[in-house]
Amino acid sequence: MKFGIATVSISGNLEEKIEAIATAGFDGIEIFEQDFIADARPPGEVGARIRDVGLEVMLFQPFRDFEGLPGALRQKAFDRAERKFDLMQELGCDLVLVCSSVHPEALGGIDRAAADFAELGDRAARRGLRVGYEALAWGRHVNDHRDAWEVVRRTDHPSVGLVLDSFHTLARRIDPDTIRRISGDRIFFVQLADAPAIKMDLLHWSRHFRNMPGEGDLDVSGFMRAVVATGYAGPVSLEIFNDLFRGGPNRAIARDGYRSLVALMDDVRHAEPKAPVDLPAFPARTAVEGTAFLEFAAQGEDKAVLERLLTTLGFRRTASHVSKSLTLWTQGEIRIIVNAETTGHAHSAWVTRGTTVCDLGFDVSSAADALARAQALGTEAFRQPLGPGQLDIPAIRGLGGSVLHFLDDSSGLGDVWSVEFDASLDSAGDDAGLLSVDHVAQTMSYEEMLSWSLFYTTLFDMRKTPMVDVIDPDGLVRSQALSTPDGRVRITLNGAETHRTLAGSFLAESFGASVQHVALATDDIFETASALTTHGFLALPIPSNYYADLAARFNIEPTLLERMSACNILYDNDGRGEFFQLYSRPFAGGMFFEIVQRRGDYSGFGAPNAPFRTAAQKRLMRPKGMPRA
Ligand code: MG
Ligand code: MG
Repeated sequence: MKFGIATVSISGNLEEKIEAIATAGFDGIEIFEQDFIADARPPGEVGARIRDVGLEVMLFQPFRDFEGLPGALRQKAFDRAERKFDLMQELGCDLVLVCSSVHPEALGGIDRAAADFAELGDRAARRGLRVGYEALAWGRHVNDHRDAWEVVRRTDHPSVGLVLDSFHTLARRIDPDTIRRISGDRIFFVQLADAPAIKMDLLHWSRHFRNMPGEGDLDVSGFMRAVVATGYAGPVSLEIFNDLFRGGPNRAIARDGYRSLVALMDDVRHAEPKAPVDLPAFPARTAVEGTAFLEFAAQGEDKAVLERLLTTLGFRRTASHVSKSLTLWTQGEIRIIVNAETTGHAHSAWVTRGTTVCDLGFDVSSAADALARAQALGTEAFRQPLGPGQLDIPAIRGLGGSVLHFLDDSSGLGDVWSVEFDASLDSAGDDAGLLSVDHVAQTMSYEEMLSWSLFYTTLFDMRKTPMVDVIDPDGLVRSQALSTPDGRVRITLNGAETHRTLAGSFLAESFGASVQHVALATDDIFETASALTTHGFLALPIPSNYYADLAARFNIEPTLLERMSACNILYDNDGRGEFFQLYSRPFAGGMFFEIVQRRGDYSGFGAPNAPFRTAAQKRLMRPKGMPRA
């Protein structure tokens, strides 16, 4: 199965687009006419350059306002087509996309359109070219793939076929299963795009908000299943008009596109086992069973600050690494590593960002499978020289240059703690009842959110929940939660739009996307709070105004409310369960720990409390403009 992408989908000039598309692993390219016209090279040279980088020129597009025109206008449309055929022959492209007409003088009628296409088909055939007809969702007379297919069927010409575009079908809520009745050999090309569910004008929605399959809310998978069920085995190509992508880094966005296509077609082949989906075999989405560890890079005074905080949180320094400057801190099932190496990846992370989560480990069913899937999706393995006694743990690059490790029991990687760590350091002390990692919150720029949500949902068996707005006193932060089906691993992605929000200033200080907070679960937050006080933990102070408002919003026992206020515990209730939260004070430029208790089926993250939490944190952070200590 060949994968393509339209040049309009990414930023840059034509040459930059060609390079980004080739590097991302695509087989071919759709030339969007404007991109070609803006280039200074003659068509033959552009075509040769595309083939030089290993790409095929799959499609030339769009040819607009062709069918149904009367008299002289009709003649002019054919003349225009001949000029474009000349150009296509020089480019070395045999297929043109004709989109349904929006011309004010175009006449309707399936047979009239079919007669026009029969003549265009003859002219194309003389040159060895082909014509594909696409129904635009806002076409004047044809705006439904079923009508475009009827035009193609009645044209009955071997050089005229159908172009399907998931956006045009799904945006109009046309049942994609109607595609199953089309003959696969009459479909010449398939374009894919997803989009978020927003109610707006179709043309505006299509031109500005399309995104990669899996990034939006349309049933692109159901669409593609219907397409392959027809026997179609031709190219599958992305045609994405998106304002963020047009201004974003083209290589990263092309890689996301490739990842989205591979993941989509993998889902499709499993759902339609009889269909001709030619894709190399690779493992299914990885089941994540838990957070194996979080690793902080920290040195000197930064390290001392972090270790004091871990101590007050009830963590014990359990072990040190046999050959590296790593200490392991544990409580319940939680493992935190403090990495003070003076070379390698963690050291570079500390030098650039200060204290930061440089590595994250997931317990998975098969580490080798997780790595193989990541590689099939276009992610490179991360490798660092192994020290004496170290296990070779599969890893990839994750958020903001951090490293994501896969551990499993089946290949003995789960034994890393006894193999690589020496437990003789074990310090005594009572814990604070913290049991496991509830969620890891990663902060990034808003533009990066789609990319990271695609990363997690294509690699792991994780679902995304609808995006919510989190109100910061200085602006909006968007939050997208991802979770395994059993809720054992949860990640929240927080997209900052301005640097004035707490998330935004953290992003600026930490030089890019990274973990901003880690939430740890307890099953009795009041007991935990009292143990923390004994350990000398300083909670984020929450003002009494908050508790007065809680009393007004919820039916909470006065004694319970008093206890919450005394311990600085925040509260939420989503109708299915209750949520209690307690925060540490910010450290290392805005990182913090959160302690949570979930009761019943509460599935959120306390978003209604975020404005009060961020305001309280901002009161404790250094005044604006002061240098970092
Ligand atoms: Mg299209
Ligand atoms: Mg949280």
